[in-house]
Amino acid sequence: MSKRFLLGLMFMLLAACADEPEPSSVSISVAPVPIALVGASLVDGSGAASLSDAVVLIEEDRIVCAGDASDCPVPDGANEIDVSGRWITPGLVDAHVHFSQTAWADGRPDAIPVGPLYPYAQVLAAQRTEPERYFRAYLCSGVTAVFDVGGFPWTWSLREFAEHNPYAPHVSATGPLVSQVTPPALSLPAEKMFINLADSEAGRAAVRYLAANDTDAIKVWFIQPARDMQEEIDTRVRAVGEEARRQQVPLIVHATELRQAQVSVEAGARVLVHSVEDRVVDKAFVDAVIDADVIYTPTLTVRGGYLRMFDAAFSGEPPEVEDPNHCVDQGTLDKIARSAEVREYLRMDEEQYAAYRARATGRAETLATNLKILYEAGVTIAMGTDAGNPLTVSGPSVFAEMEAMQAAGMPALAVITAATLNGAKAMGREADIGTVEVGKIADLLILTADPTDDVGNFRQLEAVIRDGVYHRQSTLRRHESPAG
Ligand SMILES: [Zn+2]
Repeated sequence: MSKRFLLGLMFMLLAACADEPEPSSVSISVAPVPIALVGASLVDGSGAASLSDAVVLIEEDRIVCAGDASDCPVPDGANEIDVSGRWITPGLVDAHVHFSQTAWADGRPDAIPVGPLYPYAQVLAAQRTEPERYFRAYLCSGVTAVFDVGGFPWTWSLREFAEHNPYAPHVSATGPLVSQVTPPALSLPAEKMFINLADSEAGRAAVRYLAANDTDAIKVWFIQPARDMQEEIDTRVRAVGEEARRQQVPLIVHATELRQAQVSVEAGARVLVHSVEDRVVDKAFVDAVIDADVIYTPTLTVRGGYLRMFDAAFSGEPPEVEDPNHCVDQGTLDKIARSAEVREYLRMDEEQYAAYRARATGRAETLATNLKILYEAGVTIAMGTDAGNPLTVSGPSVFAEMEAMQAAGMPALAVITAATLNGAKAMGREADIGTVEVGKIADLLILTADPTDDVGNFRQLEAVIRDGVYHRQSTLRRHESPAG
């Protein structure tokens, strides 16, 4: 008896116990019959135009046919689901998340030190033991794969836990970050989220440790050093890159300044996370990114989350959280609402904050400009939200991020590829996921509005299929308490 079958059975029993008000459609997946999705427009994630009146056939956890009705005849006995008038896309891939963060200041006490209210050790113990709330929120928002690009060592264990779990996204993880900056507020007595890049040999040792733990990538947090340390830090980052190449592990670098981003590409970065935001990129950089086939994950909206949190703390007005499909757990929403009550913990006065806000707003324009330049030059762009940072909630944050990419000048179809196939490439999993193609894992979304018209239509989510298991979206929503 397969693990998937048992999981499905367990879920049905749980759903029955919970007196689920709507009939769950999960039962169709545990029966060993193929599923045929018939009549939708298919947006396959490859960048190809949508195919109308398509058929997608699923057997067990795999796509076995995707095309028009003549190419994919529905086999006898298949469970045929009429999805005419809908759109089928691959599940979304969020290529930049953090399971070690909470979407509020309790997970980033370096932003607002709320430790007296929420001790960091307790917060992180809960992050480690209760990842299911995020798993559900991702799936509930149509996100079927995520890449944790920086966290405590336990984040590696989420991968196996999630991989064949039809109630979780696929997870890849980099484990702890390598950096010359190691914030004391974000470490625990016996666990580290940062490995000190004290010198080149420390960098090489870090890579060997991460590789020994079968990490999916090495993540360097390349924070701009003081001017007199620049060349020394460049040398250390290059040493990390060389060892990563030797260990055959991809290198991911956080680099927000053009200079650091350029050095990162030379050091062998496979993925650059966060946009270059200090200046408009030049031709030499664009050419280097193209030549090295680097993937660029812009994270356009994450800083806006910090600003909304600070705005709330200064004004005393709770911030809005966009959660159109009721996916975010109540505990997270309650904490975010407390942003309005933490003014006494702020380490900035209003004047300092106004300056910070103005600078951030100016940089946001550069982010958008650089994305447009790199996209038009043919760079592979992947969608990533940086979920877990304050007010960048796991799951629904993908909608604003995709809309920001569209607003920056990427056509909707290109944003869809960034949020599916290219995210899978960033995870190194494009052989398995990211497109609706024969042989790939059946991770699909069914939408009631056309995402190629406007990527905001990913909010119109009717169903999520993960490893061939069909979930009506409403069954994935957070459990509302009777009071509200
Ligand atoms: Zn991040």
